[in-house]
Order: sequence, then C-alpha cells, then structure tokens
Amino acid sequence: MKYIDGFREPKAAQAAAEEIKVLAQRLEREVRIMEVCGSHTMAIARCGIRTLLPPNVLLLSGPGCPVCVTDGGYIDTACELARRGICLATFGDMMKVPGSECDLSQIRAEGGVIQVCYSPLDALEYARAHPEKEIVFLAIGFETTTAPVIGMLHAAITQGIGNISLLTAFKIIPPAMVVLASDPAVQINAFLCPAHVSAIIGAAAYQVLVDRFALPCVVAGFEPLDIIYGLCGILRQLVHKTAQVENQYNRVVRAGGNKRAQALIAEFLKPVDASWRGIGLLQGSGMGLGEKYAEFDAEIRHGVQIELGRPNLACRCGDVLKGVINPPQCALFGKGCTPQHPVGPCMVSSEGSCAAFYKYSRSVL
Ligand code: SF4
Repeated sequence: MKYIDGFREPKAAQAAAEEIKVLAQRLEREVRIMEVCGSHTMAIARCGIRTLLPPNVLLLSGPGCPVCVTDGGYIDTACELARRGICLATFGDMMKVPGSECDLSQIRAEGGVIQVCYSPLDALEYARAHPEKEIVFLAIGFETTTAPVIGMLHAAITQGIGNISLLTAFKIIPPAMVVLASDPAVQINAFLCPAHVSAIIGAAAYQVLVDRFALPCVVAGFEPLDIIYGLCGILRQLVHKTAQVENQYNRVVRAGGNKRAQALIAEFLKPVDASWRGIGLLQGSGMGLGEKYAEFDAEIRHGVQIELGRPNLACRCGDVLKGVINPPQCALFGKGCTPQHPVGPCMVSSEGSCAAFYKYSRSVL
C-alpha cells in the first residue's frame, strides 16, 4: 500500500476501511486485537478509527502507557525522597499519578522541590546548575525512554556531574505481552505492536508471540493510515490462518532494532523483575542499573526501597491495562474520575486509555 499526502489521504483510508470490512466478513467471528502502545490508543481515539471497524473487530488497549503501569509504591518512594529535601526531576505526566496516600503535585504544594522536565537532559542541566543539591531523576518508561535516560547518565558521568541519580522503574514490553497472550481472561487474537519501542528493540522481538501463541503481530506507526494498514495486515493474517511478524512501519523500524541504543542499555542496565500496576510482578520484565553504576542508583544512594503500593480498589486501571475492560466499564469513569480529578493513572497520562476515551469518545458511547 502506498502513502499519499502525509499519511492521511481520505481515499486510501476509505479503500483500506473497505478491505477491513470484507476481511472481517470472511472471518465470521469476533476478533480481539490489542494495541499495546499508549500512543496508538490515543491516535485510535483521536482519529475515530473504532468507528471504521465492523462490530466483530474489537480493539483492546494494552499496558503500553509507562506512567499507567508504574506501581503506586514507586510514587510513594519518590514522595519520601522529596520529603527528605531531595530534589526530584520528572516528566510532567508523573505529577498527578496517585501513590498510596498522595501524589507528587501534593508534595510540591507542601514545599517539595520537583523539577518538571521535557527531556532527561533538562535534569542534567538542572544538576549542573545546582551542584549543592542532590537530584533524583524519576527514570520510568519502556525501551524508547530507557535509551535517552541512559544517554543522560552517560553524559553526567563523562562530564563529572555526580549530584544526580536515577530512581529506576524501566520496563520491557515483550514479557508483558507474553503474559497477556496466555491470560484466558483477555483472549487476544493478534497484536498491533508499538512503533517507538520497536525502533529500539526491533520487529524480531515479537517473534516469541508468533512461536509460542501463533498470534499475528504487526508493527505500525502512529499516523491514521499506519494504524488502518496495520489492522488490514492483521486481518489478512487471521483470514489466511497465518501468524507472523509483519513490519508495516519499516520506514523507521528494522528487524534488529537500534543496535547503538541496545549497546548503551546493555552497558548500564541489567534485567530485573518488575512490578506492573494491575498485572503484578513479572520476572525479567524490568531494567535496573548494573553493579558498576550502583552509585547512581537512587535506592542505594539514599537508602530507600521501592515497595508495592496500596491500590485503590475502586479504580479498575489494572483491568484496563490488561484489556479485560474498556474504560467506560469502570463505574468511576466520567463520574468520580475525570482528567481534572483523576482517580487512577489511566486518566492522568496523556497516553492513558481512560484519558483517551474521555477526551475523544464520550459522545459516541
Ligand atoms: S476511569 Fe479512573 S478509576 Fe476507572 S479505571 Fe480509569 S483511571 Fe481508574
């Protein structure tokens, strides 16, 4: 398929939507496709892509919003550090993510020093400008974010800036996909695989889902036509009863990914078990600093330990992140929980499913 006019050519979209209808008819059953990435979730909602799909093609949002899957216990530890007078540096999305008792915006209102960054390098510049302060960067995210954060740490070490450390909760996407693929409560038939993450880890990283579960996996970009073509590719595989990794986003993603970023990550980080909100502890699904860089590990430097947080039992973010429910099925959606007064992280984050549904789909529910 060809892209014309900046990936939004209406005739191409109509033709692809028509093909989706024909393929869906040939399937004669319901199919459940998980879009793993939060940016896909937002783009699907913003572009009204659900309205193009026949009723038997369901899109489920997955665990691909890094803020959403960060456990409340991580926020609790960050709050504790700020209360001790340590300066935090973080992306803005983290400010209203609930911890067990409060969030970072409340800590800032109490006088905690929290620097909001647009890039990890902003934190480095802040540390350079304030050598008298200890800075802890809240290092969360998937492979896409891991590489630039580690690039920042590399720069700090090279430039002799020692007053910065990382509170790490990095996560790796494929282990979570494997867990969801084997969960009978979710019943996934195929994955629309992430774009940015795949640029780092490579399309071949999803082969495990083909080999173990015979699930079609299509890597797609974020433009409307990228997503529609990605869905066409998935439905074609399902109709033909094949399963393979298809890289529809090959203008950016390579089979083997970004080797330079992978080498940087391998030098600084080691695999660790990680706790995912709503999914639980997954073996080898996170990345933590290796022994060689322990002095930059905020848990070691400041003598804290990230424990599991106490979840708000009324919030169903865990089920949303697993694709068990769509956001409107949470009793609090749009009532007790709105972007102005979020109860869970899925309503806070700019990539959260609840925020996406609230912003773009309320009127068609
Ligand atoms: S609507 Fe709010 S409370 Fe419900 S799952 Fe989403 S974020 Fe959690």
